Amino acid sequence: MIPGALIALIEKGETFLIATHINPDGDALGSSLALSLALESLGKKTVLYDRDRIPDVYHFLPGHERFTNALPPGGPPLILLDCNEPDRAGLGEGFVSYSAVIDHHETMRDFGDIRWVEPAAAATGMMVHSLIEALGVEITKEIATNLYTAIAVDTGTFRFSNTDAEVLRVSADLVDSGADPGAISVALYESWSEGRFRLLLEVLGTLEIVGDIGVSFVTKGMLEETGTTPEDTEHFSNFPRIMKRVKVSAFFREIDGGWKVSLRSRGDFDVAKVADMFGGGGHRNAAGYKVSSDMKTAKEALIKAVMADR
Ligand code: 5GP
Ligand code: MN
Repeated sequence: MIPGALIALIEKGETFLIATHINPDGDALGSSLALSLALESLGKKTVLYDRDRIPDVYHFLPGHERFTNALPPGGPPLILLDCNEPDRAGLGEGFVSYSAVIDHHETMRDFGDIRWVEPAAAATGMMVHSLIEALGVEITKEIATNLYTAIAVDTGTFRFSNTDAEVLRVSADLVDSGADPGAISVALYESWSEGRFRLLLEVLGTLEIVGDIGVSFVTKGMLEETGTTPEDTEHFSNFPRIMKRVKVSAFFREIDGGWKVSLRSRGDFDVAKVADMFGGGGHRNAAGYKVSSDMKTAKEALIKAVMADR
């Protein structure tokens, strides 16, 4: 499963650029940090790159302060995690001499000298876990905390349909290695500011249900009023899907010149396909894209696309 070329690249290289997607989530950050810690324990140097700042909620991850948005000189080999095109990481293609991709998204672009993309993997953290084992690196408490968080976030903390026996076995091993499930859950889900909670109340108030599609939104004004930031809206897209009748939840977040749309679905409905139609991507049950039209036009286009796909 793990490309031999990837192991060879790691074994012979000295310095690596480890990069992950913009608006990083727990899987992006946790898997990148775990790989960085593992490579450093082998005596390698790593530069951890993310274009965006690390959301406060992830500041409990060991090593998070090492992320930078400055690119190293000399163009060391790039290992791109939890996405499979440099665009998603806010990187140009030109500057890298050699690249490896480790990802689990369904939507794929053709980038990377070494491409290890497994849509069946529940999290990039699962793939990094097997890579770290293959490299013979001991899983420290720091690595375990990062990998457990990566897997927890991408499985909805073991609730989504991608939670299988292997996910639970690997996570149990990570607990044996020092990851603390209770503390990680509190850090991820029960450390909100009051402003964030008030923002959620407002966002829930915007909900409109069309057939089995739930649409909600957040404007820049709502963020301002509650003293919150875009990262505070993480997970908001999941709430409407709690309702039995809602098969697709679409959450619109106002950005410069348009909207960032987060899609969530239940069961077989593939929102990655829908996001792909709008130039985005993701997984069957969680995907996203950006649009530059006004909210009404964007919403109608989305509803049409979802309706057409059944
Ligand atoms: P979220 O809605 O939480 O931002 O993203 C859900 C999933 O869709 C994540 O796996 C994320 O990587 C993917 N995703 C979100 N927005 C985009 C996008 O604009 N392009 C691509 N390719 N994937 C996206
Ligand atoms: Mn992921």
